[in-house]
This record gives sequence, C-alpha cells and structure tokens, in this order.
Amino acid sequence: MALLCVPLVASSVEKMLLDADRAKASGADVVELRLDCLKNFQPRQDLGVLLREKKLPTIVTYRPKWDGGRTEIDEQKRLDALRLAVELGSDYVDVELKVADEFIKSISEKRPEMLKVIVSSCNYENTPSVEILTSLAAKIRSAGADIVKIATTAKDITDVSRVFQVCTSCKVPIIGLVMGDRGVISRLFASKFGGYLTYAALDGGIESAVGEPTIKKMLDVYNFRRVGRDTQIFGLIGNPVYHSKSPFVYNKAFSFLGLNAVFVHFLVDDLPSFLNVYSSPDFAGFSCTIPHKEIMCRSCDEVDPIAKAMGAVNTTIRRDGKLIGCNTDYIGAISAIEEALRAANIQGNIPGGSPVAGKLLVIMGAGGTGKALSYIAKEKGARVVIANRTYERAEKLAQAIGGQAIPLSELEDFHPEEEMILANTTSVGMYPNTGVSPIPKHALKHYILVFDAIYTPRDTQLLIDAKEAGAIIADGVEMFLRQAKGQIELYTNRSPAPMHIMEEAVLSKD
Ligand code: NAP
Repeated sequence: MALLCVPLVASSVEKMLLDADRAKASGADVVELRLDCLKNFQPRQDLGVLLREKKLPTIVTYRPKWDGGRTEIDEQKRLDALRLAVELGSDYVDVELKVADEFIKSISEKRPEMLKVIVSSCNYENTPSVEILTSLAAKIRSAGADIVKIATTAKDITDVSRVFQVCTSCKVPIIGLVMGDRGVISRLFASKFGGYLTYAALDGGIESAVGEPTIKKMLDVYNFRRVGRDTQIFGLIGNPVYHSKSPFVYNKAFSFLGLNAVFVHFLVDDLPSFLNVYSSPDFAGFSCTIPHKEIMCRSCDEVDPIAKAMGAVNTTIRRDGKLIGCNTDYIGAISAIEEALRAANIQGNIPGGSPVAGKLLVIMGAGGTGKALSYIAKEKGARVVIANRTYERAEKLAQAIGGQAIPLSELEDFHPEEEMILANTTSVGMYPNTGVSPIPKHALKHYILVFDAIYTPRDTQLLIDAKEAGAIIADGVEMFLRQAKGQIELYTNRSPAPMHIMEEAVLSKD
C-alpha cells in the first residue's frame, strides 16, 4: 500500500503545526514540511519546533526556486538546513538529483539509521519516454537514493501509463507522480502500480502541485485505501469530467458490495489513444460522457444492437479481451420522464403503454444523450422533434429516427401544440456555467413537462424557469440513478444495484 503524504505549505510555523494536526486527523500517513513556503524561516529555531512537535513521520523538503520552490534561497543555507533536519530527527529528507551526490556524501558520517533520503527529479514540461524515465530512475538510484522520486507533467492522460510502467519495474522504492489535471490517476493508483507514496492536499486551493486532489477526496471519493495491486479499475471518461459525482456514488456501491474495485475520473482528450494505452484487463470497464459517446460507439469491439442503432455508447465492459459497448442512458432518461408523467396521472394514447405515446417530445441536443432519448421515445410511440445548435446534426438524427428537425435558435417560437414535453440534453446550464438556460422562460408555458439531463446542479436554470411556468419537472438526478443502476449491474455482474446507497451518495453534499 502506498503511503499518503500531505505537503504542508503554510507560511508560518504555527500554521504548519496546526495543519500537521489536521493532516493527521484527516488520515495522512506522512506530512511533508515545505520549508520554502515559510516566511522568515529560521532553520535552527523553526525546524527545532516543527520536528520536536511532529506527530507523523515527516519529510523535510526545501525546494529551490530553480526546481519549482517558492522562494529564492542561498544554496549553501538550503543544504545546511536539510543537514540540520537530518540531525534533528527528520524521518525523510527530499533532495534534488542535481545536488544529491554532494548532499548524501556530506551526511554519510553521522547519518541516522532510520533516515530515508528521497532523491527527486521534477519535469515541469512533459513526460519523457519509458527508456528515458528508466535511465533517470537508475541515475537517481546510483546517486544514493533510498527512495527514487520522479515527477513529470501530463500533457495527456496516456503520459501517466509510462510512469506506471517505470514504477512497476523499479527495484527500489519509488514515488512516481504526474502533475496536472491529466495526471491525477498517477496519484489515485499509486498502490496498484508499485508507488511507495503519493501526495494529497490538505485543502482545495492550496495544493503544492497542479492536479493534487485533497486528502478528503482521495479517501472519500476515490477510495484510496481500498486500492491495491489486484484492484479492478473502472472510471468515467469525459472532458470536462471532474464535475461528475459518479466516482463518489459508484465507489460507495463497490464498498457496499465488498468488491475489490475502484471508480475514478478519466480526463480524456483523445479516446482512441486512451483505449489503446489502457487496454489491459486491469482497466475493466468505462462509463463515457461528453463528448466521447459517439466515438466510443465506433471504438468498441462489439456494440449491443440498441446502442449501435443510437450511435452512442455510455457503458463499456471488458470481456475476454474485447471491449463491449452498450447504452444505459436511454433507460435512465425515458424512465425519469415516464415516472414524472405517471406521478401526475398523465396517460399516453396507447392503453397500458408509455405515457409519452402520442405526445410531442421536443429534444434539445443531438449528442449522445439526445440520440439515446430520441431513439427510445420514438420506440415508445412519441412524436419527436430535435432542436440542436448544429442544425445538420439535428437533421441527421431526425432522419435516422423518423422525426423532425429544427434549429435550436427557432425553438423559442415553436409551439404547434399546447401539451408538449421538452427535454434538455445539451450541456447548457451544467456546472460550472450554471444560471443559463438553452431556451427563454416565456417559451416554457407550452410544455406540460420539462426534463433536464443535467444533474450538476440538480436545480438547473431551465428547471427553475419551468417550475415557475407551471410545468411538471423531471431532473437529471432521476436519470443519473436509473442509468447508473444499469452500469453498476453490468460492472459488478450483480443485481439489483444497491440503489439506496447510490441515492444517498448522489444527494449528499460531498
Ligand atoms: P454530447 O454528446 O457531447 O452532446 C452535447 C450536446 O450539447 C450537443 O447537442 C451540442 O450541440 C450541445 N451543446 C453543447 N454546448 C452547447 C451550447 N453552448 N449551446 C447549445 N448547445 C450546446 O454530450 P452528452 O454526453 O449527450 O451529454 C449532454 C448533457 O447531458 C451533459 O450535460 C451531461 O452531463 C448530461 N448527461 C446526464 C446524464 C444523467 O445521468 N443525468 C447522463 C448523460 C448525460 P452541437 O451538436 O451543436 O455541438
């Protein structure tokens, strides 16, 4: 199991001590004293207090400006402070590869037995090839490191796989870290891919490196303590993706079912290269969201006939080395709408059939969710109109399902009937761009029901306006839970999914 270390980046000794207590209470195994963050740092006095009062194993790091540190420091003073940390009983010191040789020689005479020297190399530009990283690890090792630390920068999520390869094959303890939003999985899977330790921030907004999740997120959302070498990996592929609550909800379900599995966010730019690089059985299944559902449909080895007809895949599972695609969005969306209509005693025109049968359903959006909903609504007997920003996509979809297309900009004046249903499957109004709606409020009076697929936030501007206009509403959380049920049952091969746990998780404030 990799250790979880919280870097302490406060500017005063008092605050650093308080933060160390909070880090311990939050579940950290180790803290890192970032001396370069301290204002008016007095080595003997401050290190004396910080190390005397330590409650967790402690790494002392005094990062120079030339290697990403916060302040300009005289090199001799800096190395003297690190030597003092060794003398005062620090458990670890972290030194840069450039000075490691000299530093390690200088402490060799009175080196405490328990001390571990981390020798680090930081690359703030990119992530080199496996060959370059492997020879870097060897160089760090031969400089006398007890623990090799390689930090690189992710330009793409596939960069992380190279660091995983190096960590897995390294013969000495190694910390492999890929900075940036696209490198977050390097932290989440440290235990799985042979990492000795990884870092998590104490609070959001005061990270010591870009892409460092908070310790709370690492433990509560990503189930860090449950990840080991045999853990099966699942995750949501999307861009943007970090707004999604799926990891929190799905990990709660996995824990409840006692499964050795974890679900994370995958911030993916290029889906085919992601699937190509993360193709081992460890990566057992993927959920898929904006904007990748259609490419996913073309990238799977096999696609279930309904998903194929829709041209959109939101769920994939690996079976016998093949990636199998299907779609659970359509069940989620249509059943959320049907349930709300039934609750209001609104019937369709087919006895015993769907309450949408015979009704005019206007769908905003012609992406993955728009496709899924229009396909199933048509199957259930609704008449479907597609309104999309890119009119050609609306036209193509309308043709495929036997519906009508209109430009999104004309929707405001479109009301051929009094009792229509409106469904938003665009991302307009989704976090972080909340407070906007894809249609003006006055146009909503023609709809008996308004549905929004967006679930972050639950109360979108569209639904607030629709409620005020007197419509029944059905929200994205209802859809989310219904589509998640299908995914969890596929991923776990168990039925029924623990809906009470999932509902509690999706509605929680965390
Ligand atoms: P997608 O395939 O990328 O489609 C996005 C759609 O939004 C396209 O029709 C696009 O129009 C439209 N769009 C994007 N920005 C727009 C703008 N500024 N103005 C007007 N239209 C815009 O995405 P998706 O996977 O279908 O997801 C769509 C939404 O549904 C997202 O908010 C997602 O979170 C939500 N969703 C919710 C659930 C749930 O369980 N509740 C499940 C799936 C999806 P163009 O064709 O013109 O680009």
